[in-house]
Amino acid sequence: MIVFDLRCPEGHRFEGWFGSAEDFETQRASGLIACPNCGRDGVERMPSAVRLNLGASPPGPRAEEPGARGDGRRDPFSEAHLLYSRLLDELLARSEDVGEAFPAEARRIHRGEAPARAIRGQASLEEHEALLEEGIPVVRLPIPPRDRMN
Ligand SMILES: [Zn+2]
Repeated sequence: MIVFDLRCPEGHRFEGWFGSAEDFETQRASGLIACPNCGRDGVERMPSAVRLNLGASPPGPRAEEPGARGDGRRDPFSEAHLLYSRLLDELLARSEDVGEAFPAEARRIHRGEAPARAIRGQASLEEHEALLEEGIPVVRLPIPPRDRMN
């Protein structure tokens, strides 16, 4: 058996149990799957990967009130953005900003002429590639402009 999250054309959500995905398609095509709220067919499968991946939705009634939105599931894009922001905050807090001196400072650290530490700063694409060719491990991060300002 397999459970699908379903949504009727009116937006009611409910769960349906089927023998297989094929079984679901067959029943749906025959108009056999009706919404328990309003009785309409033409239901659609909701993507359930979000719930599977992120867990944590609070238990609640499976069928929503008409027009009600949101059941505690989080938008995976917001989630990813949040994680990335936290990662950036962490990196910014734990590295020393050497600004335009980044390529020179990275070389000094690599040669042991400066204390080994995490640094960040600006480097052009050419400088970045030159550092990599010299065997110096550097990473480019797409930092949003507002974060780059401070
Ligand atoms: Zn319905």
